[in-house]
Amino acid sequence: MKLVFVNIMQELQRFDSTAYITQPPVPLAVLNAVTPKTIETALLDEQADRVRFEGDAFAFSVSTQNARAVYDHADALRAAGKKVILGGIHVTVCPDEAMRHADAIVTGEAEMLWPAVCEDLLAGTLRERYDGSPTPPSQMKPVDYRFFGERSYLTPASLFATRGCNRRCSFCVSSRYMGPYRTKPLDVLEQEIDQLAVLYPGAFLQFTDDNLLADRNYGAKLLALLRRNKRRFVTMVTVDQFCDSALMEEMAASGCLGVAVGVESLDDDNCASVSKFQNLRQPFADAVRHANASGIQTGALIMVGLPHDTPERLERTLHYLKQIPCSVFDIRILRIYPSTALYREMLSSGDVTEEWWLEKGSASTCNHLLPSCLSMHFRHASFDPMQLQHMALRLIAELNVMKQDSVSRIVGIGRRGHGLKFAGTMLFVRKRLSGQARMLQKQVEQAMAMNAVTTMA
Ligand code: SF4
Repeated sequence: MKLVFVNIMQELQRFDSTAYITQPPVPLAVLNAVTPKTIETALLDEQADRVRFEGDAFAFSVSTQNARAVYDHADALRAAGKKVILGGIHVTVCPDEAMRHADAIVTGEAEMLWPAVCEDLLAGTLRERYDGSPTPPSQMKPVDYRFFGERSYLTPASLFATRGCNRRCSFCVSSRYMGPYRTKPLDVLEQEIDQLAVLYPGAFLQFTDDNLLADRNYGAKLLALLRRNKRRFVTMVTVDQFCDSALMEEMAASGCLGVAVGVESLDDDNCASVSKFQNLRQPFADAVRHANASGIQTGALIMVGLPHDTPERLERTLHYLKQIPCSVFDIRILRIYPSTALYREMLSSGDVTEEWWLEKGSASTCNHLLPSCLSMHFRHASFDPMQLQHMALRLIAELNVMKQDSVSRIVGIGRRGHGLKFAGTMLFVRKRLSGQARMLQKQVEQAMAMNAVTTMA
């Protein structure tokens, strides 16, 4: 029996950051480690491999962004007599839908019951559905990164130290379905860090946690461990953490090269409307200057299409953001993930359709032209899809523009933080984002012009 773990990308052709910020699909290595040795395993990662399905059974990790593509592969494989097992967050929130495309689905965290699923696979007695449970920290084992072989990823030393998030932003799916917030034992984490140092010498650690520092006590011990090991790292932080100057200084002293900050909107009413209360009344612009002075690059994650956005407000946002010296601005359109509080709210008001993630793009949107992070699948009081998409592209192009002063600033931050190589990555990302946004902007403008002609006719 050969079981292949499959990672299908959300977006490959265009500029969605997932298309070039490639990182190993670590959760699949976690499952590989608990697969009985009687089963031969392999990895098929669309980021790095040619997609060829060679095996007897296939286990896919499904997210809302890749669900449609995964289902197409799953249906074809099953028609060819192969076994298909689906798991992941999307399967957890839409189990009935996933079941239509699989021999078995696994909801929740699969790690604890995976050996039993494999035994059933071997015996030919797979059940339709298995419900996993949150892995207790005492059961967390070090990931074996040798699973990824010689594949080349932009950030190969990806890892996670925590699971879940203690916040409840109403658009966020992972906080609700990842179980209670848990932290990995530090000795287990240290073994992973040691292994990564051997496999990828010189690579910085990329923590992919939703909220790495939610438990400040654990966070302090983790930062001390990184300091002791002299490891450089990047991670995501919430706005309130980013605006805590003592915490950011501790991060800088522990080797932090850069943070992605979940800003979403500069307007408090927008943040409050999606329960992002940790963002309210925070001095974000001052915190960016402080981070820059400490040698930490800032990537601002901005979301457009929030309930109180209007064309005038987004113009104002663009003007304000231009004054804030972030290294990269990552702009996305609000996504309505199934089963979130926001999804339920918008479903009942008729602003989003059920199973929108399975729909093909229509002529009245540019969803077929744009990466998934810029597709729009809901009704907004102040924007039609093309208008909001055009505005999002303008924000990306204008905020990430490559000017001499921004290049010098990013290089200067890199010098201060002893992270010149990472500064190079920031410049690469920034240049690519602005260049591709400008190109896509033209295509959206053409589509808008066509739309106007069709409407007049
Ligand atoms: S802080 Fe981030 S991970 Fe946590 S609930 Fe909010 S959006 Fe989700």
